[in-house]
Amino acid sequence: PTSKRIALVTGGNKGIGLETCRQLASRGVRVVLTARNEARGLEAVERVRCARGDAEVYFHQLDVTDPCSAARLADFVRDQFGRLDILINNAGISGVHRDPVLSAAVKDKVDGMDVNQRVEWMKENSKETYEEAVQCMKTNYYGAKLVTEALLPLLQLSSSGRIVNVSSGFGLLRNFNSEDLRKEFEDIDNLTESRLEELMDKFLEDFKANLVEAHGWPTGGSSAYKVVKAALNAYTRILAKKYPTLRINCLTPGYVKTDMSMHMGVLTLEEGARNPVKVALLPDDGPTGAYFDLNGEASF
Ligand code: NDP
Repeated sequence: PTSKRIALVTGGNKGIGLETCRQLASRGVRVVLTARNEARGLEAVERVRCARGDAEVYFHQLDVTDPCSAARLADFVRDQFGRLDILINNAGISGVHRDPVLSAAVKDKVDGMDVNQRVEWMKENSKETYEEAVQCMKTNYYGAKLVTEALLPLLQLSSSGRIVNVSSGFGLLRNFNSEDLRKEFEDIDNLTESRLEELMDKFLEDFKANLVEAHGWPTGGSSAYKVVKAALNAYTRILAKKYPTLRINCLTPGYVKTDMSMHMGVLTLEEGARNPVKVALLPDDGPTGAYFDLNGEASF
């Protein structure tokens, strides 16, 4: 057994996930960096080690949509450490299709654009498709749930187990136009995982039938992403109620320059990983079932 805390990060090969691994390692945390692609993951581990020679970083393959991969990871963590202290569900996709040629071309122009122009560009150049919406649910919600369930037994063996779900301001309930939907997502006393999943299925049906706007789902681009992040927030609260001895929270990293944001974000990676790291390292008597924006605990 080790006294050093052990943290595991999903989607650790790039972006906010990689920088979160780096910052945790530099704070003396043992880090299990996971990635769906082994070569990209191992390269990322090398990058963390190069930045800091004494960083303790391990690699294990994890595709968050693959139950066998999650089971193998849980076996690895059990054999290697006997427990897990911190799980950071960071892996995610945008749920929209972007033209790679346009996307590459805009990289050089980003610096000359203000935030509104960036947001507008993203909206105009992101095509929402049904297939992308389904994949977005699979990765950002069901993926986080799969990994959480695989690792919960090991988190319960920790004296200070935490789950950190990397969500988004896009998942805030104010983005929903239907009051009834808002209430359903908010009503944590009655909301269950199965109801949450019914709601996501309902969204996909409405998406197919072109009823997203008519039924009051979030609009203005990235609808599926907004719904799935709201579901991730609700799941966070459901879990926090179910496992009161753990600290289970969610957060937004802010608008960060990564591949997902087409590098249109306003925060650097170093700034963008601060919130995940802060929430991961909250004191043992800190909140659970909470959402954190860049100013601290905030409403859903
Ligand atoms: P990136 O696109 O840079 O990184 C996403 C990471 O998730 C990659 O490592 C990617 O792996 C991984 N991933 C995707 N699908 C899977 C999968 N099935 N299994 C395992 N890993 C997977 O995005 P960010 O760093 O920006 O995003 C990180 C998190 O932050 C996401 O949850 C995102 O929603 C959230 N976020 C980001 C914001 C921003 O402004 N950037 C704003 C708000 C929230 P691979 O390289 O193999 O594709």
